[in-house]
Amino acid sequence: MLKTTSKPRIHLASPHMSGEEQRYIDEAFESNWIAPVGPHINAFEKEIAEYTGVKGALAVSSGTAAIHLALILLDVKQGDTVFCSSLTFVASANPIIYQGAEPVFIDSEPETWNMSPEALKHALEEAYEQHRLPKAVIVVNLYGQSAKMEEISALCGEFDVPVIEDAAESLGSAYGNRKSGSFGKFGIFSFNGNKIITTSGGGMLVSDDTDALERAGFLATQARDKALHYQHSQTGYNYRMSNILAGVGRAQLHILEKRVTQKRLVFERYFMELAHIPGVQFMPEMNGTMSNRWLTALTLDPAVSEVTPYDILGALAEENIEARPVWKPLHLQPLFDRCRFYAHGEQSVSERLFESGICLPSGTNMEVIDQERVIDCIRNVFDQAGLRGTRYETT
Ligand SMILES: *Cc1c(COP(=O)(O)O)cnc(C)c1O
Repeated sequence: MLKTTSKPRIHLASPHMSGEEQRYIDEAFESNWIAPVGPHINAFEKEIAEYTGVKGALAVSSGTAAIHLALILLDVKQGDTVFCSSLTFVASANPIIYQGAEPVFIDSEPETWNMSPEALKHALEEAYEQHRLPKAVIVVNLYGQSAKMEEISALCGEFDVPVIEDAAESLGSAYGNRKSGSFGKFGIFSFNGNKIITTSGGGMLVSDDTDALERAGFLATQARDKALHYQHSQTGYNYRMSNILAGVGRAQLHILEKRVTQKRLVFERYFMELAHIPGVQFMPEMNGTMSNRWLTALTLDPAVSEVTPYDILGALAEENIEARPVWKPLHLQPLFDRCRFYAHGEQSVSERLFESGICLPSGTNMEVIDQERVIDCIRNVFDQAGLRGTRYETT
């Protein structure tokens, strides 16, 4: 039976407008730049590049399109392999398939939940011996936490393999004194509706290689040759962002720092209220990095508590609260069941995180009383398990 509840829905992460967006949209309308070109596009690209600390940026229709363009620029084609983080959203790897190449998945390590330098080293050494180095390595910064970019960059540099930094979830985060997205040969951002800032849908390709970005722009606008008539010598794509949406993006970018502060505050409240529960462990923030805490994630230790992620997800769902398990690793997806996978150690870290992890509602527009509803509900699950005589207490 479907349970109905009158309690308002709490979303995982929903769009949060600043109020300034409409002014930018109006500007686009007044000047009739209702196209995938226009002044907002140029300004948004410049502002993102400056913010990230890279030489250039190309605004595109999605983060997925940005990854696809990066792979094309790196000449990824049929018969090639591309290494990719396993613990991520499917969009990180789909463009590898678009190019007819083969993804090879790399496990996570426990300190960042991101790509394990040990597993990557193992995979690169084996590929080197087999004369089959990957054309690229796609490194994901999960839930806002930067991967170990120093180790990963050094390893990839050693084997001369370019890095694509999938910073779709980590805009506003930092590694050392550098912004997330600035580490690879290419970086990508997403402005999908659930991301820290949004244009409803959209993405950005960033790089220090402005020639490559120019070529990406050519490919993203149907690869039209320089001729008065419509002439084409290669396959192109329709991947540019609309000038209207770039206006929304500019207004959103202005409040990015505030959103990072708010996301981190959401995390802090959860941490204060739940971290003392035995078996509950929050996603770490590695020393020397700053996470935008896009989503607050935690794991439950089955050796300490009998409460499972599904107990919590179920209880939250009954309260009309949206929460999710941690991403299902791509090497476990039916879509990729023939792909190779390199584990961090004896046991797969990404599999353990998937089995034990949950993402809590982390919207910056969530009221404190809403967050208290989430916290109360979770504490309740543990209290009830405690009453059944398990080994922990929440008081
Ligand atoms: C959202 C996301 C993408 C894809 O971005 P879209 O703009 O939705 O295409 C890629 N990688 C990761 C890790 C993401 O979270």
